[in-house]
Amino acid sequence: MKTINLLGSTGSIGVQALDVTRARGYKIEALAAFSDVEKIEQQIREFKPQYAALVDEKAAADLKIRVKDTSTKVLSGVEGVTACGAEAKGEITLNSVVGMAGLGPTLAAIEAGKTIALANKETLVAGGRLVTDAAKKKNVSILPVDSEHSAIFQCLLGSPSNKALKRIILTASGGPFFGKTKEELSNVTLKDALKHPSWSMGQKITIDSATMFNKGLELIEAVWLFSVSPDMIDIVVHRESIVHSLIEYDDNSVIAQLGHPDMRLPIQFALTYPERYESPEKQLDLWEVGNLTFYKPDYENFPCMDICKNAIKSGGLMPAAVNCANEEANLLFRQDKISFNDIPRLIIEASEKLQNKEDYVLQDVYDTDIFMRETVRELAHC
Ligand code: NAD
Ligand code: MG
Repeated sequence: MKTINLLGSTGSIGVQALDVTRARGYKIEALAAFSDVEKIEQQIREFKPQYAALVDEKAAADLKIRVKDTSTKVLSGVEGVTACGAEAKGEITLNSVVGMAGLGPTLAAIEAGKTIALANKETLVAGGRLVTDAAKKKNVSILPVDSEHSAIFQCLLGSPSNKALKRIILTASGGPFFGKTKEELSNVTLKDALKHPSWSMGQKITIDSATMFNKGLELIEAVWLFSVSPDMIDIVVHRESIVHSLIEYDDNSVIAQLGHPDMRLPIQFALTYPERYESPEKQLDLWEVGNLTFYKPDYENFPCMDICKNAIKSGGLMPAAVNCANEEANLLFRQDKISFNDIPRLIIEASEKLQNKEDYVLQDVYDTDIFMRETVRELAHC
């Protein structure tokens, strides 16, 4: 039986991770989230973890009273979440926090020697070198939960080395605005942007999928997870979300991983790796699917993919900078303060103001976060 510390337990990935845990009979040692008292209380009663934490102090105080009849110890604040990932007894820490708030807890869990199941892609984008260096030093595995990276990871299994790997092909659904021009995009609404064609996810990533910034984040995530150069990664739009990604070897053999779009499969594989078991994923009948289509991405009307590719090529703090600028711009769009096309514009304009540096420490990443968020708000007059 595996034991798990789950960070971001009340979110889309968190809840699906608990479905997997329930089905496999695994033990949850810690649950952490931002402020959803009711949901985490239910989860505590069902999974009886050693620790639970809410970032929001007031919500945590309320939770403490609600679950005082249980043996779960309630913690609060960022330190509480970090303790859930690092100090609780779980052998695997599954990080499904949204945004670069997941970076500190990931680093602490690595330091504590936990195996990391990583859904929180912003962790690798903002702190790529810090995270991969720490994992190497501690001999800790980082197992991908993101469906594309799980696909690549699965395609690479059985290969004696990555030496003959020529290309990674990331598939993208294209989001709700596939085929639209910049002009058409200028007046799309939040409601339109939240209608994802194939995946049901948290709001932040759903907006990232609409702008295609999500695919840019995933390109950077792949650079760090699989130690490849950005130029080795191509993006292909695949509307059906059945082919989850592909790899190509030097001999031009291409290997893909397929399945219905259901995050419980990549979550389960990260938790059961290296074993495979039955899963809730529906069996794939290709005759039922019928057609699989592939298109070149539209880099002109969706500049966020190139923003991210250029950022990882620039290196240093630039990937963190564009990520943090996007987190703020994504939020302002969700608050109806800026328009859809303002998102890439603000990220580009804000990142031009960054004083980049090649060698950085964790504090530089946090300083960049504050600077980029402030700069985006200033440029947006918010
Ligand atoms: P979500 O918004 O549904 O859930 C986020 C969770 O994080 C919630 O439990 C929330 O309480 C918690 N949280 C927010 N801020 C926090 C903080 N500062 N400290 C601790 N916890 C905090 O988001 P989601 O869709 O589940 O996505 C989570 C992560 O997984 C993101 O990085 C996303 O890019 C990635 N991801 C999601 C999907 C998906 O299908 N939803 C797929 C691939 C990758
Ligand atoms: Mg993905």
